[in-house]
Amino acid sequence: MGLTEGRGPKTVWANPAEIIRSLAPENPVMVFAPSVLRATAQRFLQGFPGLVTYAVKSNPDEAVIRTLAAAGVRGFDVASPYEIDLISRLAPDAARHYHNPVRSRAEIAHAVEAGIKAWSVDSHSELEKLFARVPAEGCEISPRFKLPVLGAAYDFGSKFGASPELAAELLRAVADRGYIPSLTFHPGTQCVDPHAWEAYIAAARDICDMAGVRARRLNVGGGFPSHRVAGVEPDLTAIFELIGRTTAATFGDDAPELVCEPGRGICGDAFALITRVKAVRDGAGIFLNDGVYGGLFELPMIGNLDRLEVLTPEGTPREDEAMPRVIFGPTCDSVDRLPGELALPANIQEGDYVIFHGAGAYSTVTNTRFNGFGQMAHLTVNALD
Ligand SMILES: *Cc1c(COP(=O)(O)O)cnc(C)c1O
Repeated sequence: MGLTEGRGPKTVWANPAEIIRSLAPENPVMVFAPSVLRATAQRFLQGFPGLVTYAVKSNPDEAVIRTLAAAGVRGFDVASPYEIDLISRLAPDAARHYHNPVRSRAEIAHAVEAGIKAWSVDSHSELEKLFARVPAEGCEISPRFKLPVLGAAYDFGSKFGASPELAAELLRAVADRGYIPSLTFHPGTQCVDPHAWEAYIAAARDICDMAGVRARRLNVGGGFPSHRVAGVEPDLTAIFELIGRTTAATFGDDAPELVCEPGRGICGDAFALITRVKAVRDGAGIFLNDGVYGGLFELPMIGNLDRLEVLTPEGTPREDEAMPRVIFGPTCDSVDRLPGELALPANIQEGDYVIFHGAGAYSTVTNTRFNGFGQMAHLTVNALD
């Protein structure tokens, strides 16, 4: 059916409706709008008061990396040898920050060979592994610290991050060994409360004071929200300004240079997922051809993506009044359902298409082939609507 990127009769489509009308896709289609990605990258590059790096894990699609590099993104947050090599190949001049704080010795050796110069760490044992293998000259090590969770949809702190006291010990040790001392944190993904960053920046100052070390850079993490909920557009500018203002007020003349490493905030809104209605079971529950084992993997953890549109196979919007429905994915596993209920037009029918806007983050990478589903196609569009 010509649904594989780069093949088929056409490589760039006008919008999702044109794809539906022309191809009547039976399997899920992830559509990418490079123009939206470029515009979001520009918002970060122009608005964030420091270096913007992109967290590769959120969507490592080659077209995404190339588009961001061409748009002027000069750094990438990488978490594995695979991601290190991907960026070395696609954006060879960009900075690579290896900010997964736990690594095997073989992974560390791979990264040193690849020329990695920026690392994060959250324990003495992992810091000792870096000291044993990473030359100090020109290398930056950033202890990662955490605070009790605030404001985010999903807490990373249960896995990574040192207490401020431990971070101060690590920062001291990094400086004593002649590495460039910096600090990093991640406030939690889809962080819609900008004040979370305020609390972390204040804690960074306390950590520097405890350690008696001036941090060269402060990486304020990812966590920047994407547009997931209809009518609630995140205010990135307000977050950028708050981060700049708080850093200046907290550190004064000693202010570290700022770095951010957004994933979702950059790639989320540049994609939409086209799914098809397989069944409206006895007029009630809706079965889609994609679900939590596919492109909607993270919804049970961070909440529904409710920027939905329902189109007929002719590509016309269904505009009946919405009613709440339970939505199931295609596999035989009962966890394969979206959280709670979603409002969909009352006249939705078998064969219709449900488009999830803002589906670019943690979706292409977590798509599985469980039960033989997940045969997701990737297409490029000029616009998402
Ligand atoms: C996942 C991750 C990010 C990106 O997080 P988002 O919430 O997608 O912005 C940034 N930095 C690190 C270290 C991460 O693990």
